[in-house]
Amino acid sequence: MDQPARFKAVFLSDLHLSEELPETTRAFLDFLERQGRQTERLYILGDLFQYWVGDDAMADDPYLQTIIHAIRKLSDSGTGIFWICGNRDFLTGKKFLKATGATGLKEPGLLQAGSLRIAMVHGDALCTDDEAYMKFRAKVRNPIWRFFFLLVPLSKRKAIVANARRDSTRSNMAKSAKIMDVNQDAVKALFAQTGADVLVHGHTHHPGDHRVVLQNSDRRRLVLSDWNLDDKGNPRADWLSVTYDGTIERHTL
Ligand code: MN
Repeated sequence: MDQPARFKAVFLSDLHLSEELPETTRAFLDFLERQGRQTERLYILGDLFQYWVGDDAMADDPYLQTIIHAIRKLSDSGTGIFWICGNRDFLTGKKFLKATGATGLKEPGLLQAGSLRIAMVHGDALCTDDEAYMKFRAKVRNPIWRFFFLLVPLSKRKAIVANARRDSTRSNMAKSAKIMDVNQDAVKALFAQTGADVLVHGHTHHPGDHRVVLQNSDRRRLVLSDWNLDDKGNPRADWLSVTYDGTIERHTL
């Protein structure tokens, strides 16, 4: 990067990219070309992809190749790409990171911008009221489960994931909004653990800017929107930026 970047960091999440969302995909590629070059760091906070069945799916998939090359181009240009996986793309692994040039982060990611300490997570692990999901998460995030799942032939994995998504859509429709939102105790515990002033996350698709009071001090929980520019009735695509002095701003594409 020849000139100092406009932003210290930019955050986005939940693009749910798939071939069925051509406008959203185009917007992301365009975002990488434009805004991606104006930031020192780009943080992708999970569920960039609608699903990810394993890094071996990249090789003969032109759609995925287009996205991976675009991310790679940005990282080669000098923007640091940081990756936190979501509940849909948690099977991204070392090959994906190598292909994109991204750095994988364990949750919570941490960033200092001026005097501001920012913590980042996808958000699903904060939804502790959804006990069924937390059980599922514990299972699939286990390295042994992962190892064996990735041994299943690719075509079979695709079928399993498609089925699981259908089941999850059905069961989520039966869950209340409260159960599927973050748990306030989990949020406070994360602030206490990280000492962060600001928490940025996605996952819930409820964009917001919430005040959290912890030990008599105010913290801020910023929630990203999901992206969907193919949904003409409700197009949405938020991203957040932070300057070098710690000023946070929300943008809408
Ligand atoms: Mn999610």
